[in-house]
Order: sequence, then structure tokens, then C-alpha cells
Amino acid sequence: MAITDKIYVKNHQQLASQLETSFPKGAFKGATLDILFQGEGLAKLDDASRERVLDFAEDFMDCDCQAAPHCGCPERKFVAYLLELREQGLGPDAIVDVMSDDYMLYAYPGDVLSFLDDAVRTLEAVETLADVDGEREVAEEVQRRRNRLV
Ligand SMILES: [Zn+2]
Repeated sequence: MAITDKIYVKNHQQLASQLETSFPKGAFKGATLDILFQGEGLAKLDDASRERVLDFAEDFMDCDCQAAPHCGCPERKFVAYLLELREQGLGPDAIVDVMSDDYMLYAYPGDVLSFLDDAVRTLEAVETLADVDGEREVAEEVQRRRNRLV
């Protein structure tokens, strides 16, 4: 499962009752993207929630794909956001705190930790392949990125 399958909407019940409809708890479930983040019920949300829902839509759902928001862009952008927080030196617990402040989302720190470990391992594999292929510059660039994540 991708990390984006393990990102949840905080105050899920409360938001669902404000919107007078139900949607899944998973933030990146198709119906959540449609109903909560792109829906017409925005006006029904309390101010603080509306602000965060709008921030999420602006930051992760601003692409022009025809299939949007089911095009994969929101997930890709969110993964980039997580990696950026890591590059700023945040650990899993702090990353969860920040996503909660920014977008009213939460995840289990253990899941964030596995995601970060996987990202580092993927970069290691890419680095090794580039090295084997004699692509020194690529290998070095990948190494720099990896060092920023550990
Ligand atoms: Zn897109």
C-alpha cells in the first residue's frame, strides 16, 4: 500500500456531519477527493476546516488533467510534500504534526517511517544502478538526495 492510502482526514465524523453526507476516512480515496476536497459542500464547513480543505485543494489538486482529481497528481504531490518535510529535518512524529496543522490530516508515525525508509532504499537502488552503468553524475545526484533524507 502506498503511503497516500494511509493518510486520513482528521475530525472525519464532524466534517461528514457538517457536509450532511458520508465519505471515506482515507484522504486520497476517490470519494473523499470528490466530496470533501472538490465538493460543493464547502460552504457548510466551519471556517477553520474550510480553510484547510481549500489549502489542500490548492496545493495538491491544482493540475489540469482531464481525469483530475483521479489522475495521480494529488498523490504524487503529497509524496513530494512529505519528502520535503523530511529534507527539512523533521522526523515521522513532527511530519504528522505538520500535516495535521496544514491540512487537518493524520497518519501513523510508523507508516511515515516505513515510507521514508522505502524512499531511501529506492534511492539506494537507483544509485547502485547508475554506478553500474557508469553514470557517475546521476549516482552522485541521487546520493545527495538520499543524504538529505537520512
Ligand atoms: Zn493531474
